[in-house]
Amino acid sequence: MHFALIGQGLAGSSLAIEADKHGHDITCFDLSNNNVASRVAIGIINPLVLKNRTVFDKSEILINHCLSYYAEVEKMLQEPFLSKNLIREVLSSPSEVANWMSLSKDANLEKYIGSIETPHKSLAALGLGIVKNSLRLDVKNYLQIIRNWLSKQHNLQNEDVTNISVSKNGVIVNGQKFDGLLLAEGLRAKWTQKIFQPLQFSPSKGEGLIIETTNTHIDFPIHRNTFLLKENENRYTVGATFNRKDLQTGPSKAGKDLLIQELSYWFQDDFKIVNHWSGLRPTMKNRKICFGWHKEFPNIGFLNGLGSRGALTSPYYSSLLWSQHQNHKKR
Ligand SMILES: Cc1cc2nc3c(=O)[nH]c(=O)nc-3n(C[C@H](O)[C@H](O)[C@H](O)COP(=O)(O)OP(=O)(O)OC[C@H]3O[C@@H](n4cnc5c(N)ncnc54)[C@H](O)[C@@H]3O)c2cc1C
Repeated sequence: MHFALIGQGLAGSSLAIEADKHGHDITCFDLSNNNVASRVAIGIINPLVLKNRTVFDKSEILINHCLSYYAEVEKMLQEPFLSKNLIREVLSSPSEVANWMSLSKDANLEKYIGSIETPHKSLAALGLGIVKNSLRLDVKNYLQIIRNWLSKQHNLQNEDVTNISVSKNGVIVNGQKFDGLLLAEGLRAKWTQKIFQPLQFSPSKGEGLIIETTNTHIDFPIHRNTFLLKENENRYTVGATFNRKDLQTGPSKAGKDLLIQELSYWFQDDFKIVNHWSGLRPTMKNRKICFGWHKEFPNIGFLNGLGSRGALTSPYYSSLLWSQHQNHKKR
């Protein structure tokens, strides 16, 4: 079958890979825009909710699935985009160190809470708690690799979808006819809401900084309230904030001040800010990921609501959506 896919963010990318695995052709429509969630995501794949020291829902299934998915895509496209440098959590006081050590012996957490390392001299910390099974996806690179693959092996159209009509005979998208339609539109969700139902979004804004610092040599992601992540020789990303009240597009002074304050609490080297950016996470009110196939048109599906963890969740939910397509058709 030939599917039209609307959106090539994290959701659209893994949906395209799964569609290809099921033997379908894809024409992807994606209006490339640097502010969409996937293009500003910092790519952390983390089984823990670090703020509460709890395990993220379905962590084990999601981590195992995304590890095998990304490894398979790296192998298929012969390009690396996954870094297995584990996250380190900054522990600042004796009680935080003691708490981390005791959690590392907890039956529910021992898979994820690891040992404590001696901190690097750039950090005001008593110890660095290792988060086991954490990863970082180089999101920009991954999206570009999938984009190149779609252009070569399938069809990619860098255009806004302004017209869709649906009937029992197929789907017409911007004047082109298809057998089916996949919607991975993120927050815009114009067509998902027209064809399925209104989605109950409750987005959160995230802001980040790129800083330059000459003395720091830290290869792994570090976290305490915010992340510090190496990009290249002396550039690091700091971020991202969470804000559900200010949903204006574009970075804010308050966001920048908060990041500097959070970083300065534990990062001691001098730095210069060279960039400041923001984006909105497509989170639902109930925090659940939503996906499914249309009751009347069984070849029209959607995936949305990846929230703050699209790198972790998109591979699993794309595969689940496709497995339901098979069942849906058999009924
Ligand atoms: C600041 C920030 C930091 C983040 N950090 C992380 C992180 O570290 N780890 C993590 O896992 N997640 C992170 N996230 C969350 C992650 O970015 C999202 O979960 C994910 O990107 C959502 O992907 P999506 O494909 O559903 O939506 P989107 O990324 O919004 O992609 C939708 C795409 O569809 C296109 N589109 C929509 N409508 C149309 C149309 N009509 N015609 C053509 N194209 C259309 C859009 O242009 C876009 O390219 C972060 C988000 C933000 C904002």
